[in-house]
Amino acid sequence: MFRLTQFLKEIPYPTPPGPRRRPPGPVVIMNLIRRCNLACQHCYSISADIDFPGELTTAQILRTIEDLRAFGVPALILSGGEPLLHPDLIAIGTRAKELGLYVGLSTNGTLIDEARIASLARVGFDYVGVSLDGIEGTHDRFRRKAGAYQASLRGVRLARDAGMKVGLRFTLTQDNAHDLPALLGLMEAERIDKFYLSHLNYGGRGNINRKTDAVFRTTRRAMDLLLDTAWGHVMAGRAREFVTGNNDADAVYLLHWVRARFPRREAHLRAKLAQWGGNASGMDVANIDNLGNVHPDTFWWDVSLGNVKERPFSAIWRDPRHALMQGLRTSPRPVTGRCRGCAYLDVCGGNTRVRAWQLTGDPWAEDPGCYLDDDELGIQGGGPRVTLSPYHRSVMGTHPVMGTHPITHPVMGTHPVMGTHPSTGTYPITGTHPITQGAPQALSPKVVP
Ligand code: SF4
Repeated sequence: MFRLTQFLKEIPYPTPPGPRRRPPGPVVIMNLIRRCNLACQHCYSISADIDFPGELTTAQILRTIEDLRAFGVPALILSGGEPLLHPDLIAIGTRAKELGLYVGLSTNGTLIDEARIASLARVGFDYVGVSLDGIEGTHDRFRRKAGAYQASLRGVRLARDAGMKVGLRFTLTQDNAHDLPALLGLMEAERIDKFYLSHLNYGGRGNINRKTDAVFRTTRRAMDLLLDTAWGHVMAGRAREFVTGNNDADAVYLLHWVRARFPRREAHLRAKLAQWGGNASGMDVANIDNLGNVHPDTFWWDVSLGNVKERPFSAIWRDPRHALMQGLRTSPRPVTGRCRGCAYLDVCGGNTRVRAWQLTGDPWAEDPGCYLDDDELGIQGGGPRVTLSPYHRSVMGTHPVMGTHPITHPVMGTHPVMGTHPSTGTYPITGTHPITQGAPQALSPKVVP
């Protein structure tokens, strides 16, 4: 996550740069349940309104949370699916707070109602993030449910009025960028504390629908608006927070923004951004899915590092043997293409490796989601770029670059998008694949990088 407001405050109120601070454990996003009452277009977990067998029991979840705390994990984000569908959400959240963790709740908001708000507020969640992908019809289309927008907004208002810190989470695409100004207006009108602009990452349905990813001009316009809005709040002394996610090149874009407006602060900002260091997958961020599989982040569900039913998270996370984790923890990361020649690799960290992997089969290829020009990145003689290609069933066969996978798929046994569904035997939403409309097909999986 890129804390835009925090870095903008460095312009009027600079603080001394120092060495990169690493917490003893990562921030952990835990998918308590995969079931969801919505079926969003960009859901990385491909959730649906069905039961998913083999999920962690409440006892296993609680045991894992105790291990996380002992390991030095500073923050736990409870997610799903829709976490409010988990029957023991309150007990789990309460226990995590008792252990002293910062506990966030990531929800679609539609199930926060008058009957539940008091018990949710009593847990003492440090933050409640509600996804809103546009205004009214846009959001309902993305969430594939009429009325979802109004239900989510009711949840936001109830949580805010109960004294909880609330944020909106917006995933930017070509199809909803036009609603960004209105959403920022909504934030102001509703006195919402935080706004999270997430760029599209290519996991789950986000990968299937990657053709809707914002093209670079759209992304730049959105970032310009976000920067100007966040800066206005900093200047007015208002306690609103703006953050972004899934595109660490945002930090480099900010640096250019500062260079154009406050050139005397550029060197300071650069030092602070290098101290931050960019993408933190596999280092300061981790994911535990509903089955107990551990991943470098929420978009790496194709790669399991181990399962907490068999080994504690702390042992899995410390295990130095996994090749992907070795690369993610190497500084600088072993990236290639334009990322390798980029003058800001120390600031961005090479960005999101999942997009590179999904498009090329190589987790160390340049990130195709980088929206800055070669000139802006100090890249000399850059060749052709990796460009966005729509998701296609050919990607799901034997991978053209990486061959076949040595083990059964870690999550479902077959591919999480197209494979045979564990309980229904068919794709969870349509019964057939949404693009090919053909029979479900098993993946010849990719090599674990
Ligand atoms: S070229 Fe790569 S390292 Fe440089 S800003 Fe873009 S994504 Fe980051």
